[in-house]
Amino acid sequence: MKKSFMPQFENIDQLFDHQLEGLKWAVAHAYNGSPFYKKQFEAAGVTPSDITSLDDLIRLPFTTGNDLKEGYPLPLLSVPEKDVVRIHASSGTTGKRKVLSYTQKDLDVWFDMFARCYEMAGLTNEDRVQIAVGYGVWTAGMGFQLGCERLGAMAIPVGPGNIDMQCQFLVDMQTTVFCCTASMALLMAEEVNSRGIKDQINLKKIILGSERCSSAMRAKIKDLLGLEDMFDITGMTELYGPGTGLDCHKHEGIHYWADKYILEILDPDTLKPVEDGEIGEMVVTTLCKEAAPLVRYRTRDLTRKISNPCSCGNILPMHDKIMGRSDDMIILRGVNIYPGQIDEVLSTIAEVGSEYQLHLEREGDGKDYMTIKAEAQQGIDVNNTSEIKNKIKKIVKAKIMVSCDAQICAYGELPRFAGKAQRIFDNRS
Ligand code: ZN
Repeated sequence: MKKSFMPQFENIDQLFDHQLEGLKWAVAHAYNGSPFYKKQFEAAGVTPSDITSLDDLIRLPFTTGNDLKEGYPLPLLSVPEKDVVRIHASSGTTGKRKVLSYTQKDLDVWFDMFARCYEMAGLTNEDRVQIAVGYGVWTAGMGFQLGCERLGAMAIPVGPGNIDMQCQFLVDMQTTVFCCTASMALLMAEEVNSRGIKDQINLKKIILGSERCSSAMRAKIKDLLGLEDMFDITGMTELYGPGTGLDCHKHEGIHYWADKYILEILDPDTLKPVEDGEIGEMVVTTLCKEAAPLVRYRTRDLTRKISNPCSCGNILPMHDKIMGRSDDMIILRGVNIYPGQIDEVLSTIAEVGSEYQLHLEREGDGKDYMTIKAEAQQGIDVNNTSEIKNKIKKIVKAKIMVSCDAQICAYGELPRFAGKAQRIFDNRS
């Protein structure tokens, strides 16, 4: 029988039992192995023996990105240094980077989780996986690469950018799966068409990492490349790297690997759980991470839990797509706006495409104004767009509870990005 990377739980209670055992282990491991955690736990008045049920999780103190920076160069280290076999670092642009260390077991767990993502996306050892994400100290390239090898598929490690080589390998290697950011996928889809090589390639699936992708943009990429399916993969350096969850072929939400970490969704202001189904910050606690375990780590990523079970039958729980970062949250006239909400609104309007920008201004009257600049779909007359603009304004008002202005520009006018896209222009300060 083919090796599976899925956990074999018969029901959700077995998963919870497994989580409790993991939580007990993780707390004892962090307390005994890390002076940082020991101090944190003592300040919170909690010891490992206090953890007797999953409800005790809320007694544990939070860990933040700042704790990682302050612990530079080897923050949260909970094993002897000789047991560390590798480090990775986040792509932080200011100040000290977040460096995360790994034992051999941590790497094994990570690549098993990543292979599980590929398995959930329906890949087999027959697949050829072209990896167009960053290699080096970042986790992205290593994760996609070694997860692919763990599954037994063929990795084609091109790295980011380099459109000529990407196109050549799509044709010559008959790549079946392409891994990249959403902006890169759109760029490739347009390139493949403008170069006229669509009928020479064999691409079936795209796995998208590290960037939000509106459903309009997704539909466009899928259509331009004639794909069978597209998947969102989640992950962050602090939590091993990419590969900690994936939406299955039903696309009802992102299954996350709850046998390896516990996910809480908390209000970023009060740090209390949000109402079921509300947007909040993802807070994660790892259950078997050795070198740099995370205890209630505030990820700053926003999403909501999906409580309905997935129709695919897999009992691993789901969260919604990432709606942006709590740091990216815009406050406009007292209303919290997450960029992901703008994606959602625009994707409901057939006449606009997937590219947009948000411009925020403070006018002479001291009030804040938001303009959404959206690209029209191909073939839409941009001299006559008042109806589309009104539609955008009306839906934004109804769904997000703020007034905005709208501008429509011609298809292709807004910039495309090979890496992460910049869509918010806040000119208020
Ligand atoms: Zn599913």
